[in-house]
Amino acid sequence: MKEPEKIHLKFLGGARTVTGSKTLLEVGDTKILIDCGLFQGLKELRRKNWQKIIRDASEIDCVLLTHAHLDHCGYLPILVKNGFKGKIYCTHPTRELATIVLRDSGKIQEEDANRANRYEYSSHSPAMPLYTQAHAEAVSKHFSTHNYEEWVLIEPEIKFQFLNAGHILGSAMVELKMHGRTFVFSGDIGRTNPMLLYPPKKMPQADYLIVESTYGDREHDTTDVKTELELIIKETHRRGGILMVPTFSIERVQEIMFLIYQLRKDGRMPEIPVYLDSPMGIRATEIFEDYPKWQDLSREDLKHMYEGIRWVNTYEASKAIVKDKKSKIVLAGSGMLQGGRILHYLNAHMGNENNTLLFTGYQAEGTRGRSILNGSSSIKFFGEYHKAKCQIASISSLSAHGDRTELIEWMKHFKAAPKKVFLNHGEPHQLDAFRVWIQSKLGWEVVVPCPEESFEV
Ligand SMILES: [Zn+2]
Repeated sequence: MKEPEKIHLKFLGGARTVTGSKTLLEVGDTKILIDCGLFQGLKELRRKNWQKIIRDASEIDCVLLTHAHLDHCGYLPILVKNGFKGKIYCTHPTRELATIVLRDSGKIQEEDANRANRYEYSSHSPAMPLYTQAHAEAVSKHFSTHNYEEWVLIEPEIKFQFLNAGHILGSAMVELKMHGRTFVFSGDIGRTNPMLLYPPKKMPQADYLIVESTYGDREHDTTDVKTELELIIKETHRRGGILMVPTFSIERVQEIMFLIYQLRKDGRMPEIPVYLDSPMGIRATEIFEDYPKWQDLSREDLKHMYEGIRWVNTYEASKAIVKDKKSKIVLAGSGMLQGGRILHYLNAHMGNENNTLLFTGYQAEGTRGRSILNGSSSIKFFGEYHKAKCQIASISSLSAHGDRTELIEWMKHFKAAPKKVFLNHGEPHQLDAFRVWIQSKLGWEVVVPCPEESFEV
């Protein structure tokens, strides 16, 4: 009998961290990359983006992209720049969203390098961007897009399908059949009942399961987000203040818009204008509108959800709204106050105690958002310190990731234990807690790979 082909699984990123997701599958001469994300956050992680983690990009046959978040797609421009010639498989909405996410990332890299050169604080002279907008644009010709549950043949013994992950629009898990073995890559998995999307697809079987662990150590808060938001809006409105909501462009902006629409429908919203002042948020919302079948909202809901929002398209319009002191709600990027138009609102209105700054998403270590949430009385931007005298609020239960109970419930649908489960996309304490949790609840064999660790399966 012929020996089965040896398959190697190597964790090039997203191992013991939540960023830089990149998993390499090798069989014979074929090399397939699942996700190609950027390392973000702490400097020692970001430095990895400059290292040659992928020895020869031209040797990679194809990439299977699970979704459009930067920590899953943000390294693609470097892969293409370094000679990658293959296809990048993804769903239709993922291509649209990844295109805007990468373009924006290229722009930020260019601006960072320019700033470093202007103030001469880089150890490299001149400072170079990791990649440019042109590099980001060059990725687009590699996309090959597919529907959920459509088998795609890569070569005779290798095929895959994307399945709904319920995490963000177009997000997918990957089921890959390779030389008689089945691999399931979870990508990022959404909540059991996502607000705007269909629930994650249940999987019946896998020989090898590679699963994310972002919330592997905890459960989500069960408070009613609609009521929380209602109270914050009403309080701010009563004070005649401005509610500033820093938002992530994909999913979170649309979720907040949906909640506001629901409150309005129930007669629970005061008369207060709502602005979406974020070019990327507007573009992502348009993409959301273009793919009605990929989400769990009726056309009617979608239509009404947009009706109550004033889209701010030009910089001039934005400047006028920033200046205006009337009570209003503003949704603006970036979500962790690291840049974007929200800083102009903070500059003008953060010093007034009648106004509110409301966080609706995870604030990573080292960001201005985290600093304020941790109680800092001022933050630095535009070259100076700004006092935070406004009210600070936070709704922490909005999340695009399933918690540990939801992840276990999803795993219970497997008819038999996988031969091995690999945990990625988590901080070390989350991974370890989740490993113990899976072993105690399901008795499965679980491995937590180290960065660049390789396994023969
Ligand atoms: Zn994600």
